[in-house]
Amino acid sequence: MPARHAAFAKAVCDMSEVDPTLFDAPAFEGHESVQAFFDAATGLKTIIAVHSTARGPGAGGCRMWPYPTAQAALDDVLRLSRAMSYKNAMADIPLGGAKSVIIGDSRTDKTPALFEAFGRAVDQAGGRYWAAEDVGTSPADMVHARKTTRYVAGLDGHAAASGDPSPVTAEGVFRGVELAVRRALGRPLEGVRVAIQGVGHVGGFLAEKLHAAGAKLIVADVNRGAVQHLVETLGAEAVAPEAIFDAPAEVFAPCALGGALTMQTLDRLQAKVIVGGANNQLASPEVGRALHARGLLYAPDYVVNGGGIINVAGEIRALEAGESFDPAWVAGKLDRLIQTLGEVFDRAAAEARPTHDVADEMARTRIAAAR
Ligand code: NAD
Repeated sequence: MPARHAAFAKAVCDMSEVDPTLFDAPAFEGHESVQAFFDAATGLKTIIAVHSTARGPGAGGCRMWPYPTAQAALDDVLRLSRAMSYKNAMADIPLGGAKSVIIGDSRTDKTPALFEAFGRAVDQAGGRYWAAEDVGTSPADMVHARKTTRYVAGLDGHAAASGDPSPVTAEGVFRGVELAVRRALGRPLEGVRVAIQGVGHVGGFLAEKLHAAGAKLIVADVNRGAVQHLVETLGAEAVAPEAIFDAPAEVFAPCALGGALTMQTLDRLQAKVIVGGANNQLASPEVGRALHARGLLYAPDYVVNGGGIINVAGEIRALEAGESFDPAWVAGKLDRLIQTLGEVFDRAAAEARPTHDVADEMARTRIAAAR
């Protein structure tokens, strides 16, 4: 057995020594199935976790990451698959929650054969898991997976294809900003200052939409070219990445990586409204409670950024029916998503509770109702 395969087997042994059963893992929350696959020919090590199929087949991306241990990969896939159940339930799409992880370095370990082997693993889940790209994987990788399973979405070049989800995600976030500003500040977007952290795919489209609605933009990104483009095309003000938390703005829009909202960054924010596209914005639930206590209105990330998975759901729906992608179905679901966000705000206000707490409860109720 090659050395790295031996290391994986060892990691699995270590895992069982620490945790006698999977069911005791901290991130385990009633998951329906967790399957680990190893392919000797390609070195593929993947775990597919299906949290819930109560609302439909589980759907979620495939993350490729050099996890230091199998336990770390297991924790991540358990956490991420549960989060997909919540996101898909709040987006009111006929999909459950699932996710997969590939243990490996996406810069050095990718081969077409590895993703074909991944496709075989997905296929063994028998349609209970639909894969798509995620951190460390791309549509090009998924093309190889598609050779060995039909349960892959997010590809170009066929009638059911949904294309880049980012514009749809950004449209949902834009409408979320509009709604939250109306609720918290009682005004339209004209003249409102929005600080955007990260102007990549989602943040870039969001900036364009906010600019068109008359908002004033303050932007930061570690990619200076992306910032410069918005300075030149939209008249945005540029600040250094670390300075975005101090920006004089009514709205803070985290659109970079997760964990932007910590007890430390919270102390620096001048914004009264937080709405952005990034996943896992709250470094901990405690930050969500602190936001609430300080009177800030926070749009739960997995609710307001659900446009992307709605787009993917449109593709799965079309593939299953043998039809073409239907943008009108996606538009209807996006309208409904913003109504749901309004319900979260209403309940949080009526019950004097943090919005993330209310959203989690609504998601759990929706999943339980479908069982
Ligand atoms: P992206 O990689 O295109 O954009 C992220 C941007 O953030 C990049 O330009 C990057 O340079 C920048 N960035 C990274 N670290 C930064 C920092 N410390 N300060 C400032 N900028 C920083 O990714 P994306 O597709 O736009 O996704 C953005 C976020 O939204 C991610 O958290 C992603 O998981 C989430 N999300 C995306 C979608 C989608 O449809 N693309 C859907 C749901 C959620």
